[in-house]
Amino acid sequence: MEKLKETAAAVKHGVQETVATVKHGVQEASTTVKHGVKETAATVQGGVTFAKDKAMATAADVAERAGHAVEGIKGHIPIMPEGQTHQPGSEAEMWTKPEFIRESYVGADKLFGRVALITGGDSGIGRSVAVHFAREGADVFIMYLDEHEDALVTKQLVEAEGRRCVTMAANVRDHKSCCEAVERCVSELGKLDILVNNAGIQYYRSSITDIKDEDLEATFETNILGLFYMAMAAVKHLPEGGSIINTSSLAAYEGAPHLLDYSATKGAVVSFTRGLSEQLASKGIRVNAVAPGPIWTPLIPATFPRTAMVPWQMHVPMQRAGQPSEVGPCYVFLASAGGSYFSGQVLHPNGGMPVNS
Ligand code: NAD
Repeated sequence: MEKLKETAAAVKHGVQETVATVKHGVQEASTTVKHGVKETAATVQGGVTFAKDKAMATAADVAERAGHAVEGIKGHIPIMPEGQTHQPGSEAEMWTKPEFIRESYVGADKLFGRVALITGGDSGIGRSVAVHFAREGADVFIMYLDEHEDALVTKQLVEAEGRRCVTMAANVRDHKSCCEAVERCVSELGKLDILVNNAGIQYYRSSITDIKDEDLEATFETNILGLFYMAMAAVKHLPEGGSIINTSSLAAYEGAPHLLDYSATKGAVVSFTRGLSEQLASKGIRVNAVAPGPIWTPLIPATFPRTAMVPWQMHVPMQRAGQPSEVGPCYVFLASAGGSYFSGQVLHPNGGMPVNS
C-alpha cells in the first residue's frame, strides 16, 4: 500500500513537472513569436522610414541642383530640403508644418488675466508660446521682424482661444523700437506681466574664418543685445510676481562648431538670465530660460544646409527633432504659479541630452 502511494505521488509529480515544462515552453514560444513580430514590425518601420528618407533625399538632390542653378547666380547657399533663402524663415512657406500645440492640451487658467509680450512670437517656438499662453488665459503682444503672414496667423490662433492679441513688426536690434513695443503693449493691453525674449537668428558657417562681420554683429545684436533692450524697457512695468523668460539653446551647453557665434550668444543668454534673476529677486520678478534642442521651426530650413538636417536631428538621444508643442509648455510652467520657486534656472526640452544645469 505504501509502495502504491509512493508510485502515485511520483506519477503526480511527473505530471506536474510535465505540465510546468509545457507551460514554460508555451510561454517561451509565445515570447519568441511576440519578439519576432515586434522585430519584424521594427524592421518594416525602419524600411519605410529609410525609403521615406531616401525619397526626401532624392527630391532634395533635384531641388538642390535647381537651387544651385538659381541661387548660384545670387550667391546664396541653397538650403534643402525645405530650403528657404531668407532669414527669418517663414512658417507659411514650410512644406511640413510644425505642431505648435497638441490638440489634447487643456488650459487651466494658469495665466488667467495676464499680459505677455513675446519677441519672435509669430512663428516656431514663439507661436507655440503665444497659443499656450492664450489657452491658459493670457493676452499676448507679439513682436516680430517682418513675417506679416505668420504674425497674422498667430494673432488669429490667439483670438480663437478667446484672448486679445496685438502684433507689431519691430527690430529687437534697435533699442528705441524695443521701448516702443513695450509701451504699445502697456497702452493697448493695459499692462505687462511676462516678457518672453525669444527672437533669434543664426548663420551656419563651417569655419570661424567664414563668419562675416555683418552676420556676427547681427547675431549678437539680435540674440543678446535685444534681450538687454527689451528687459531694460520692461522692468519698470513688470509687477511683483512678474516674469522674464529667455530662449537660450542646447548649443550653449554643447558648443556648436558650425554655429560658433550663435552658441556664444546663447551662452550669454544663460549668464544674463542668472545675473538678472539675482538682481530682480528682491522685486519679486523671476527670470528663467529655456534651452531647446533641435526643434522643427522656420529657423531650420532658413539657415541649415541640406547635409546638416539629418545629423542635426539625430545627435540627441531621442534621435528626432522636437516640435514647438513640446517646448511651449516649459514657458507656461515658468510663467505660472507652478514655477514660483524657480529663478535663474534653465529648462531643457532637448530630446534627452544630459547637460549640466
Ligand atoms: P523662428 O524663425 O520661428 O523664430 C525666430 C523669430 O525671431 C522670428 O519670429 C523672427 O521674427 C524673430 N526675429 C529675428 N530677428 C529679429 C529682429 N531683428 N527683430 C525682431 N524679431 C526678430 O525660429 P525658432 O526656432 O522658433 O526660434 C525662436 C528662438 O528659439 C530663437 O531664439 C532660436 O535661437 C531659439 N532656438 C531654436 C532652436 C531650434 O532648433 N529651432 C533650438 C534652440 C533655440
